[in-house]
Amino acid sequence: MSEDRKRMRFLVTAGPTREPIDPVRFLSNRSSGKMGYALALAALGRGHEVVLISGPVALRSPAVAELISVETALEMFAAVESRIQSADAAIFCAAVADYRPVSVAEEKIKKTADHMQLELTRNPDILGSAREQFGFRGILVGFAAETNDLEFHARGKLLRKGCDLLVANDVSRSDIGFGSEKNEVTLFFSDGDRLHLACASKQEIAEEVIREIEKLIEDRKGASEKASSIELNQAE
Ligand code: C5P
Repeated sequence: MSEDRKRMRFLVTAGPTREPIDPVRFLSNRSSGKMGYALALAALGRGHEVVLISGPVALRSPAVAELISVETALEMFAAVESRIQSADAAIFCAAVADYRPVSVAEEKIKKTADHMQLELTRNPDILGSAREQFGFRGILVGFAAETNDLEFHARGKLLRKGCDLLVANDVSRSDIGFGSEKNEVTLFFSDGDRLHLACASKQEIAEEVIREIEKLIEDRKGASEKASSIELNQAE
């Protein structure tokens, strides 16, 4: 690590969640976890401390300070809640299931009727809970996978979820995104700036994203140090 780069603490969520229906079935999604793991690796490679909270993935575990494996959105929520306070930046890359079955059958559901209905209930929005519920004041980074009107949806999420940065990608393209080795993203910042990162490997994209987050952490620290020195001067 270079002399002037500070060791920072990152929390990263990655992968899908699994929402059980009965002992053998679950609802999930196509997230491979590759982007989240690439971010964890990039932060590690730049000398930072990383806590990785991961849904079920088929990826090699990186040598992070702590790897917490979870299955459901509720488990991911609890893991984030208990660790987010010590992070300088929290990156929410996981594809959390929006809904879970209202009840989980204790035994395997048998096929008897021709039709069956599954009643679902909303999962908590983990990223959306970071500011108000968890009281997190560090740099908050969200991801958004969109199929249309990328900028409109991304900027809406950035505001609604209280993010400093939202990383958006177009998942209607089959050559990038879910499961792929490559990605192409646009970074939307809360000050209105945007930065497009051209198609590259997820690892290269992750390096760029981590660099941008380092700048946000430094700027935030600089601003709060300035504010406390003004307060000190006024008190003298
Ligand atoms: O609303 P949407 O699911 O598109 O938002 C995506 C962002 O919110 C991602 O950063 C994702 O990790 C996070 N998220 C979350 N908890 C949820 C749903 C999404 O943390 N229940």
